[in-house]
Amino acid sequence: MSDEGTIFDKIISKEIPADVIYEDDFVLGFKDINPQAPVHVLFIPKVRISTHNDINTDNVDYVAKMHLAINDYVKEIGEAENGYRVVMNCNENGQQTVYHIHMHLLAGRMMNWPPG
Ligand code: 5GP
Repeated sequence: MSDEGTIFDKIISKEIPADVIYEDDFVLGFKDINPQAPVHVLFIPKVRISTHNDINTDNVDYVAKMHLAINDYVKEIGEAENGYRVVMNCNENGQQTVYHIHMHLLAGRMMNWPPG
């Protein structure tokens, strides 16, 4: 696992701008730069966890807080009852491109299944 940071570290530290829609001490939520749905927000932990494989008993509270932040946000924007999709891509076959875990929140349209 690389020790180098990712672009998401720079978004957390505000070195590069992002359209932040949620923030607390543990989690940051910001709009995806290349949206795939009317609502496409990324929720990330404020610690580096590179992939889904790196979630463990020491850091899983961050993941729980990411889910709770999503629940608050979908209620706030009125999409909770309509429904939405939460996605985490892992490694090459999962098409992960940024190695700092993130949950994609996709909402505002009917989703397709199976995903591509
Ligand atoms: P992945 O493919 O790793 O699951 O998703 C990475 C996501 O991060 C992509 O949807 C991509 O559009 C988004 N992304 C990459 N760089 C930036 C950035 O600098 N700012 C924002 N807001 N999103 C980014």
